[in-house]
Amino acid sequence: MTLKEQYDKALRELQAKVSLIRSGDIPCDHPMKIGDNYGESCQVCGERTAGMGYRASFRDCFHRYVSMGDESRYEMCMYCEDMREK
Ligand SMILES: [Zn+2]
Ligand SMILES: [Zn+2]
Repeated sequence: MTLKEQYDKALRELQAKVSLIRSGDIPCDHPMKIGDNYGESCQVCGERTAGMGYRASFRDCFHRYVSMGDESRYEMCMYCEDMREK
C-alpha cells in the first residue's frame, strides 16, 4: 500500500468513526483534538480534553503539569501556569 492509500484509509476510518459518534452509537474518545495556548478541545463533541479548552471556553482548568527541569522540585501547568510540588 502506498503512503497516500494508507492516509486515505485512515481518513475514511476516522470519518466512519466520527459519524458513529455523532449518531450516538459509540461514546466519543475524542479522536480529533484542536488546541491553543489556553487548552485543548475535542473537535467532534466539543468537550474539553485539557486546560481551559480551545479558545478558553471553560473557566476552570484541567491542569497538565510539565516539569520545570530536572533540578526543580516544581512543575507548572502549561495552560494556566499553576505550580505544584512534584
Ligand atoms: Zn470528543
Ligand atoms: Zn492549569
